[in-house]
Amino acid sequence: MDNKLYNLVTKEEKCYGCGNCVVACPVNAYNDPAVAGGKGPEQLDKVIMCVENGVIKILNMGLCKGCGTCIEECPDGAIGLEVNYTT
Ligand code: SF4
Ligand code: SF4
Repeated sequence: MDNKLYNLVTKEEKCYGCGNCVVACPVNAYNDPAVAGGKGPEQLDKVIMCVENGVIKILNMGLCKGCGTCIEECPDGAIGLEVNYTT
């Protein structure tokens, strides 16, 4: 269980799997050269999220730095950060 001040949250019903957030995330790009090259992730244990079956899927929430870049790049408000009141 992650003990962060925020949680990365997704709204799968709004996501149409464009992958903008996956490629824009600086952690994903730093950790996986495929993402840095503008492609889908290949090292799924090192990226925060990927598109699976056409929708965004969180894989490693613990790697998220809360920078908000993914939110800026999502055209449909399908990914965001929420305050974790239980921390
Ligand atoms: S908030 Fe920043 S570090 Fe976290 S998933 Fe989004 S782009 Fe990546
Ligand atoms: S969360 Fe937004 S940016 Fe990410 S794949 Fe879904 S629609 Fe695209």
